[in-house]
Amino acid sequence: MTLDLIAFDADDTLWHGEVHYREAQAELRAILAPWGSPAEIDQLMDKIEMQNLPLYGYGVKAFTLSMLEAAVALSEGEIRGGQVGQILALGRQMLEAEVRLQPQAHEALQELSHCHRLIVITKGDLLDQSHKVERSDLAPYFSAVEVVSQKTPAVYQAILNRYQTAPDQFLMIGNSLPSDVIPVLAIGGSAIHIPADTTWAHETVADFDSGQRGFYKLEDLGRLPDFIRAHFPAPAQD
Ligand SMILES: [Mg+2]
Repeated sequence: MTLDLIAFDADDTLWHGEVHYREAQAELRAILAPWGSPAEIDQLMDKIEMQNLPLYGYGVKAFTLSMLEAAVALSEGEIRGGQVGQILALGRQMLEAEVRLQPQAHEALQELSHCHRLIVITKGDLLDQSHKVERSDLAPYFSAVEVVSQKTPAVYQAILNRYQTAPDQFLMIGNSLPSDVIPVLAIGGSAIHIPADTTWAHETVADFDSGQRGFYKLEDLGRLPDFIRAHFPAPAQD
């Protein structure tokens, strides 16, 4: 079976993502230290982020609003304008942070782009994710960047419909089992899981069946071109 379309997740697949959230949350703990312990702040942030997810979606702006909400709640309204400014600055720093690519991202994409159609499918904020693709210097390898609010089987199927790609000719590559692997296998596609050093707790799954058809796992992006060559015949060139 040949591949018509290969899609990459972005955060913690092509570049580091979660580490920026962890660093910002460490700074938030310092700002909110007068009102709570680090564990209390982490618990509250987790609860607020989960509550806000259906309304705010994923990404830095949603995370910044959740940090502000946690600050107001924990301080019972005592938080001052200067500290609000510090929290806003944390969000801005995340949006402007240097894009730190995963090792061998460039090489792998360059090689694959010679004989495959590559796209990005990422959750998050449209502007932020588009900026990161541009700043990463990876944009030339991709024919499109799809920013979605959720990665469900229906969302993947809708993308494949637009690209006129059959699920069995689609391969997704990403660090998250619930976002990048499980919904793709559910519609009959193939998925390669490349675990990241740091992955958001809510992007992990305890009881995943790794024996499923279409599921593969690799250590890093550097092994990807050889792996794809070995497992999927190259599409016929026009
Ligand atoms: Mg990811």
